[in-house]
Amino acid sequence: MRRSALGGFQDLEGKHAVVMGGAGFLGSHVCTWLVYSGAQVTCLDNLITGNASNAAHLMGDKRFRLIDYDVTDYMHISGDVDYVMNFASPASPVDYLKWPIHTLKVGAFGTHKGLGLALDKGAVFFLASTSEVYGDPQVNPQPETYWGNVNPIGPRGVYDEAKRFAEAMTLAYNREHGLDTRIVRIFNTYGPRMRADDGRAVPAFFKAALEGTPLPVHGDGSQTRSLCYVDDEVEGILRLLLSDETDPVNIGNPEEVTMIELAEAVQDVVGNHPGIEFHPRPTDDPTVRRPDTTRAEDILGWKAQISLRQGLERTLPWFKDVLGH
Ligand code: NAD
Repeated sequence: MRRSALGGFQDLEGKHAVVMGGAGFLGSHVCTWLVYSGAQVTCLDNLITGNASNAAHLMGDKRFRLIDYDVTDYMHISGDVDYVMNFASPASPVDYLKWPIHTLKVGAFGTHKGLGLALDKGAVFFLASTSEVYGDPQVNPQPETYWGNVNPIGPRGVYDEAKRFAEAMTLAYNREHGLDTRIVRIFNTYGPRMRADDGRAVPAFFKAALEGTPLPVHGDGSQTRSLCYVDDEVEGILRLLLSDETDPVNIGNPEEVTMIELAEAVQDVVGNHPGIEFHPRPTDDPTVRRPDTTRAEDILGWKAQISLRQGLERTLPWFKDVLGH
């Protein structure tokens, strides 16, 4: 695979990608890299948690179009399609707890509709799955072979099980119809275009540090996460898209930190130390989370390059801007 510059995946030049959920945080970065690589992009998004402003920089480009559309409905796209990429789903706990039925519907019906479109067009289908398929893992770090520890009937089950269903459906299309499919298991990703109020730790910590209020930490803050800067994540996603790997691949940064360490790192980067305030731990909140990225390294030649400190520094201007600092 040839790549000349940021976003410059030359193998994508002239290809047509349909990106479901492309006006969200991660999807909008994927659309940007696709367009900068010379691809034509049709973004379908009902804007439930996304925003057209995430794609504002692409609006004048004739290679990009955004259609306000609910992907749980039948999708028709005229002309050839090379890739159907499904990023549509509420993704932060605040969002999927607010829209539990929609989360299940978009993971199930949205994925099914996307698979149907890919089959009709002879396109590659790409599923954005999640580390949440591992639930509250009893194995750390998590390799792709680990089957997970998910509570199907807890409040988070709507997201975790929707993604597990989506993976099963994707592989069913691969096995029954011979559809060319990819599945990425994305570990916590952060960066510019996250909503300041989406409830995830990075936005919540930046908001509090910038506003000078104590950073909200769940439980005693000893639970861990491994955070990947968005540019690293998108690079891994596009490498996987252009590979011929059907089995799920973890893409994430294995630099594991406790929530207390993350809160301290954000305060250092912001240069303001209002301290920490402890809140009750959400139900079924995972205790540890860290990707085993051996397969991504072996198969895709991919490894996260941007350290947590560097990524937080690159993210700071975004939160300063959206919060008016
Ligand atoms: P996001 O909420 O910013 O983006 C999701 C997008 O999907 C939004 O633009 C939303 O409007 C759209 N959408 C939801 N339902 C839709 C529907 N029915 N029809 C059309 N569009 C719909 O979240 P994100 O963080 O960018 O996550 C994108 C994808 O990546 C999700 O599938 C998520 O599960 C996955 N993922 C993200 C992370 C992460 O750390 N950001 C981690 C693991 C997996």
